[in-house]
Amino acid sequence: MNDPLLSRHSRDSHAAALAAATSEVGRYLDDRATPRSAATPDELAHRTSAVDLDRPLGDLTSALEEVRAIYLDHAVGYHHPRYLAHLNCPVAIPALAAETLTASVNTAVETWDQGTSACLIEQRLIEWVADLIGFDSPTGTAPDGVFTTGGSASNLQALFTARENRLGRAGDRCSRLPRLRIVTGEHAHLSVVKAARLLGLAPDAVIALPGDGDRMDPVTLERTLASLAESGTEVAAVVAVAGTTDHGAIDPLRAIGEVCSRHDVWLHVDAAYGGGLLVSPTHRVLLDGIGAADSVTVDFHKTFFLPVAASALLLRDGAGFRHSAVHADYLNPADDPGHAGGATAVKPTGGGPAVDKSLQTTRRFDALKLWMTLRVLGADGIGRLLDASIDSALRIANCIEQDPELELVRRPQLSTVLFRPHPRVDVPPEPCSRDAAGSGPCPTGAELADRLVRPVRDALFAEGHSLVAATVVDGRPCLKLTVLDPNLTDVDVGLVLADVRAAAGRLAAGLRSTTTEVFT
Ligand SMILES: *Cc1c(COP(=O)(O)O)cnc(C)c1O
Repeated sequence: MNDPLLSRHSRDSHAAALAAATSEVGRYLDDRATPRSAATPDELAHRTSAVDLDRPLGDLTSALEEVRAIYLDHAVGYHHPRYLAHLNCPVAIPALAAETLTASVNTAVETWDQGTSACLIEQRLIEWVADLIGFDSPTGTAPDGVFTTGGSASNLQALFTARENRLGRAGDRCSRLPRLRIVTGEHAHLSVVKAARLLGLAPDAVIALPGDGDRMDPVTLERTLASLAESGTEVAAVVAVAGTTDHGAIDPLRAIGEVCSRHDVWLHVDAAYGGGLLVSPTHRVLLDGIGAADSVTVDFHKTFFLPVAASALLLRDGAGFRHSAVHADYLNPADDPGHAGGATAVKPTGGGPAVDKSLQTTRRFDALKLWMTLRVLGADGIGRLLDASIDSALRIANCIEQDPELELVRRPQLSTVLFRPHPRVDVPPEPCSRDAAGSGPCPTGAELADRLVRPVRDALFAEGHSLVAATVVDGRPCLKLTVLDPNLTDVDVGLVLADVRAAAGRLAAGLRSTTTEVFT
């Protein structure tokens, strides 16, 4: 390329490069008959390592062709109607237009002098989300927030802020840190345990309460906090989940908020999955009580249908962000009038520079894709996409319930469907004894279903026609569909369930024939 860097002299190359990339995306969409190609991970590893990184191709067309062969032809298509595995969403088109602006202008949302208007746009959205949450009786200063790279990062910063809030009370920090606890339900996201590790808490700092079904039980929480208080154990935070990643369960936020307020404990609500309910025209009520939170995580790259990465951490008392601020003379000096409340041209509204609130320094303008999507679709428009996904999940659950070869494990609360295959099998030949380990042959009923779950998932992954996930519910394996496709039709659902039944039938027959071999 003549001039590889973007400037007014290279705008034609910029336009041509984006057009070429866009047409590759078009080809990817056209060619994608299945959510995944049938290439094995080994084949793909081979292709990737065969690329000689010391020998550049020299032009964009060749680089795109190579990327097509090693990536696009095999990328898992989250937009595909038969991709129902993990919490990945199809993405809103206005957000993709925004991504072009974000990447091309490359604003760092960091200080007023690096990106005044981007900082203002992000801040406007933070206020908008805080209003949707509707924090109860804000203490201290107004609510505030910051965009992050994801729910894991938002949770880390929330728990860091809660830790500082607790340790900032009277007493010696060092002796109290190892005894601090975080209380969660048993289905809290793994990032809570990871955050506890990073925050220097003890290895057993996270207390995961057994639930009431999939949800945290406020009575158990009340009892636990009372007994911790009695033993003089300090709790940095209670983490409630609005949409557990694995089951889509929503904790009873109002009751939990009351318990936390009685015990004067920080409540963090992890709404990484359920955050989209904030704009749902019909299901907002599922978040009843979220306003009692001290901090909230929302992932826009899940139920707001934005491309990765886009998340935010919101604090009820915005002053809590002071724990994240560190000053540097060249960037955000503590005595800068633009920081401390004076008025300068680079500080149009209250608040310090964005970098004071973030764990990152250089930070991408991810807020723009939320802004553009909101301005095009409106809050209701985004919320209706989630509502349609929730409806699809309910329709799928109904289909499964009526299917004699499938067993519904839970009714969906959000958009996750948990179920098991139950292929019809002949009664095993008599006698069908087990081996000493109890893992003997002739599985039927529940045991057969359990043994089929992972092989069914793996077989579907290998074929690539329908992608589902596998997990464990109440100690038993089960299959999982995470529905984030508002346009899912009954035909698509029928095809996915047919693929599951077919794989289960085939694998069950395989198990039965090995069984017979063992016994004859
Ligand atoms: C997805 C998820 C997270 C993690 O978010 P990332 O954006 O993947 O880092 C945290 N909590 C819950 C409840 C989630 O569903």
